[in-house]
Amino acid sequence: MEIRCPVCKGKNVGKIGTHQYYCWNCFIEFTVKGDRLTVYEIEEDGTLTSLNDLLFEEGEEVEAEAM
Ligand SMILES: [Zn+2]
Repeated sequence: MEIRCPVCKGKNVGKIGTHQYYCWNCFIEFTVKGDRLTVYEIEEDGTLTSLNDLLFEEGEEVEAEAM
């Protein structure tokens, strides 16, 4: 199975955890659990901020949990 970055669609992705990946192009981290995808921006202090609200405005491929 080939993992591609959900943001740039590139293959310059490194695996950093069981379900965690890092894109060297975008400097973002994302997790894949089943068919659920979550994208995080890494802040300067190392905290992770979800970018899903920005990336998936139509709710595509993301379950609508925050109703
Ligand atoms: Zn990328």
